[in-house]
Amino acid sequence: MDKSKYPIERLYIAKRPNTRPGTRLKTGTPAFFVAHDTGNPGATADNHFTYFNNLTDRSASAHVFIDDTKILEIIPTDTGADPAEKAWHVLYNVTTDNDQFGYDANDAALGVELCYGGRITFSEAYKRFVWYLAYCCDKWGKNPSTHIASHKQLDPARKADCEQALKAGGKTFKDLITDVAAELAAPIAPPDFTPLPDGIAQALIDNYVSPAWFAAQKVGDEVGKTHFHNLANNLRMAAGIPMTHEGAAAPMTKLPKSNAQEIIFRWLSPAWFNAKASGDKTAMMYFNNLANYLRIAAGIPEE
Ligand SMILES: [Zn+2]
Repeated sequence: MDKSKYPIERLYIAKRPNTRPGTRLKTGTPAFFVAHDTGNPGATADNHFTYFNNLTDRSASAHVFIDDTKILEIIPTDTGADPAEKAWHVLYNVTTDNDQFGYDANDAALGVELCYGGRITFSEAYKRFVWYLAYCCDKWGKNPSTHIASHKQLDPARKADCEQALKAGGKTFKDLITDVAAELAAPIAPPDFTPLPDGIAQALIDNYVSPAWFAAQKVGDEVGKTHFHNLANNLRMAAGIPMTHEGAAAPMTKLPKSNAQEIIFRWLSPAWFNAKASGDKTAMMYFNNLANYLRIAAGIPEE
């Protein structure tokens, strides 16, 4: 699955016995997942953070609130650096969770809440809900068919979630489980470019871009200096070369098409024509090869 499709945001509510007791799950890591909806149409993830951060008159909470723009963990789940804690999202005196999973949900499960209704776009919130549940199944090796329960399934006498919110968006609980399984199995889309080999990027910088920068500096051409500085940085990013001496991992980024075209027209093409004029076939192939590396790093067809 694509684990970086959506960011997981974390803003924890204050510890308090009725909402966030601060105690670890009995199982250490989450053993199963309870799919809820908030039962509060139109209220967003941020609204629920505020609500539970201020709740004092009853015991209730859940770990995660998901709306059409964000996935917000308000109690630690262990998806990040903080170990999973208990939340109060299923009554202790219901026994379905104990029969099915061997634990009370509050002691072993994550409570995952779908925000819906009002101005919340169902399709966007649902996509994030599906992805988050798939992310959790992937992280802890759980099967969506057996390790995700709806609140309604655990407490049918009192509860209708998350089926009621799904129904509002034209989905069933079965659809949810199928969609989570599909998300889990989805291949990661391959990038539409090939990173520039770092030796090639460095050679292009040393042979062409750096000399152009120095030439611009010599004549006081500030625009030219900035341009060649950016061009060198884009080449480094296309090769994943760290840009600082601290060596922070640089994300590999597609080379802008205009950069590839500029380097080809400004330097490689003239060099190729010179090589051709002097009958140097080896040099012709060398410059052609460099140009092709630039083309595929920019996601344009080779020539
Ligand atoms: Zn619920």
